[in-house]
Amino acid sequence: NAVVHMAHQVVVKNVAKAEFIFGIAASIADKIGIDGFQHVQEKLAELIMNLEMMRAFLRAAEADAAIDKWGVMTPAWAPLNAARNLFPRLYPRMIEIIQQLGASGLMALPTEADIHSPIGPLVDRYLQGRNVDAYNRVKLFRLAWDASLSAFGARQVLYERFFFGDPVRMAGALYTSYPKEPYKERIQAFLDRVEQEEAATSPAADGE
Ligand SMILES: Cc1cc2nc3c(=O)[nH]c(=O)nc-3n(C[C@H](O)[C@H](O)[C@H](O)COP(=O)(O)OP(=O)(O)OC[C@H]3O[C@@H](n4cnc5c(N)ncnc54)[C@H](O)[C@@H]3O)c2cc1C
Repeated sequence: NAVVHMAHQVVVKNVAKAEFIFGIAASIADKIGIDGFQHVQEKLAELIMNLEMMRAFLRAAEADAAIDKWGVMTPAWAPLNAARNLFPRLYPRMIEIIQQLGASGLMALPTEADIHSPIGPLVDRYLQGRNVDAYNRVKLFRLAWDASLSAFGARQVLYERFFFGDPVRMAGALYTSYPKEPYKERIQAFLDRVEQEEAATSPAADGE
């Protein structure tokens, strides 16, 4: 069951990353005064949904934990397996949202030395945001840049896409190992009702 415990730790990591990305996006929206726009709220809501989904997967896995045949308390596999397949699709989109909301604020960021140099007053004047001074806006956007545009940020996206395995083959494994019969049987039973109900209401069934 090593992979189940690994997946549990991975979903804890997913919750932490979803909190981190939502925190950055919500701070950007607040500081530059864009959180009143509907499309911005929609993107922030998408990040909230991702965060709450990961929390729900984690909680379900822990609530349905059981002792395995070696006596080790083991989280439920199905929600963890769904979460580890879903997050590689969500994370690149979460970074895309940071880029969409951050826009040009994510580029040409001055360094701390620039702020304390002769161009400091120009930075103070031109890089302030609606609800934040230039120094704190640059600080926030530098963090957002690190997460979404830097070599580190790109490596993080690549990591989330692949670190648990090839997402295509992981999805294939999910499909082939998933218990599909109960669902197919319910559909077949529903379809079979047509003949059963016809037989029950036919004149022959009434004995005529
Ligand atoms: C940043 C990063 C961190 C990583 N960390 C870890 C780690 O901590 N532990 C660990 O064990 N591994 C780690 N990995 C490795 C990861 O498991 C592999 O990247 C993953 O299994 C894909 O294998 P690959 O990179 O060799 O790509 P390939 O297998 O060469 O795949 C490349 C592309 O071809 C497609 N493809 C290849 N073969 C097939 C096929 N048979 N059918 C359909 N499509 C196919 C894939 O879908 C993919 O799009 C990490 C990878 C990255 C990028």
